[in-house]
Amino acid sequence: MNQNRTMLHGWGRYPRVEARLSAPANVEELRSLLRDDTAASCIVRGSGLSYGDSSLAADVIGGSGLRQTWKLDGETGLLRVAAGFSLREILGEIVAKGWFLPVLPGTSLVSLGGAIAADAHGKNHHRDGSFCEHLGELRIMLANGEVVTCSPVERPELFRASCGGMGLTGIILEAELQLARISSAYMLSASLPAANLGQCFDLLEEHGGAQYSVAWLDCLARGTSMGRGAVFLAEHATDGELHYCNRNTMGVPFAMPGMLLNRHSLAWFNAIYFHWRRIRAGNKRLGHDACFFPLDGIRNWNLLYGRAGFLQYQFVLPGDAAREGIRLILERVIDAGKGSFLSVLKKMGPANGNPLSFPLSGYTLALDFKREASLFPLLDDLDAMVLDHGGRIYLAKDARMSESVFRKGYPDWERFLEIKRRVDPEFRFRSAQSDRIGLTGAAQ
Ligand SMILES: Cc1cc2nc3c(=O)[nH]c(=O)nc-3n(C[C@H](O)[C@H](O)[C@H](O)COP(=O)(O)OP(=O)(O)OC[C@H]3O[C@@H](n4cnc5c(N)ncnc54)[C@H](O)[C@@H]3O)c2cc1C
Repeated sequence: MNQNRTMLHGWGRYPRVEARLSAPANVEELRSLLRDDTAASCIVRGSGLSYGDSSLAADVIGGSGLRQTWKLDGETGLLRVAAGFSLREILGEIVAKGWFLPVLPGTSLVSLGGAIAADAHGKNHHRDGSFCEHLGELRIMLANGEVVTCSPVERPELFRASCGGMGLTGIILEAELQLARISSAYMLSASLPAANLGQCFDLLEEHGGAQYSVAWLDCLARGTSMGRGAVFLAEHATDGELHYCNRNTMGVPFAMPGMLLNRHSLAWFNAIYFHWRRIRAGNKRLGHDACFFPLDGIRNWNLLYGRAGFLQYQFVLPGDAAREGIRLILERVIDAGKGSFLSVLKKMGPANGNPLSFPLSGYTLALDFKREASLFPLLDDLDAMVLDHGGRIYLAKDARMSESVFRKGYPDWERFLEIKRRVDPEFRFRSAQSDRIGLTGAAQ
């Protein structure tokens, strides 16, 4: 089995951890690694596209060798597939057959295992829920090497804890997934300009019936223009053209000098982008890549933030408090002079009862910030505002939340720990993140 020592990081390039990375080529190698290895603890890693430290530890098991299962029932759209495949690879096989993944995050490069472990949400959460709501069975390797099956009816507690469980219950080997029918590889989209945050919310509400919706915000505009942006809506076309088109990509060759990214360049970028979207407002026919994964067109775009890396701060606020809470948080960010290339606002549907799943019925906002010392006190302030409004921070994006912020945001953490203790009594599966937020720290 391939094993080497290497520096690892997530998509935000912060933090970095020196790790022993083992790459089992199949389930048997994975089992012997867990049974024979003397390493006290480890975490599994998919594509390494979570932003912070959820797939970092001193011992890391690469999950991309888990690719032995692929079985599609062409009648029902039930797909049984190994966790190491990326969503892009899955789409590459199913679109031409008239099937589609029911939920897609903003990049197609994540592994199936990573999408389940984060219980990823897409631009259709308000209508279709999160990734794990479309699963049948999961096959999971527990810490002792035993492989078990769980589903909403068989070992339901293990199933619920593993959906959104950030790799802490066991290693997901394969999943059964109900695909959605499509009759076109194209999307019909509309882009609607919004003069301020209030209009963004109004448009998202007004178009709550659209299958996919998201708003991009200029998070540097002030005064009556604060939160101006564009609301993007999309539906599947029905013209019968079915083929998956791989788009060409361009790449960022090296980490940009951090000084290029300052208040002025961000304001410039946001203003140009806002006016560009206003000019291009209207209806369009788009391929899946352009509709769902515009950022995948620029390989390594995370290098734009420079060598120090960046943090994405994504939170959700529930119910009626969401609009006012997001306005206050955006105001605080603007007053602090911090900006974000991309600020994304989405409407969310109901929570699903998984103890660590992120979504709550309300709104989620994601902001990217260059890593610098002055950022951390601001994020601590934002944490307090998020909690005051009954919200929580997304584990898949987090690199710095404290134990107390985690516990208040995820009140079911004790239920999760109870299940973890049953299936992993020695706490073998743990990450830098799970130690930091007190799920697997010394106190356990
Ligand atoms: C550009 C970009 C856009 C994104 N947009 C969205 C979005 O719109 N919505 C959203 O919800 N998320 C989004 N994400 C976050 C992403 O969906 C999650 O972080 C996802 O977990 C990444 O999958 P991965 O394969 O890279 O996992 P990794 O980053 O490698 O790991 C993430 C977690 O999954 C666990 N894990 C990985 N494989 C397995 C396995 N086989 N068994 C058990 N646990 C496993 C790891 O232990 C870790 O805790 C985005 C990320 C990027 C970079």
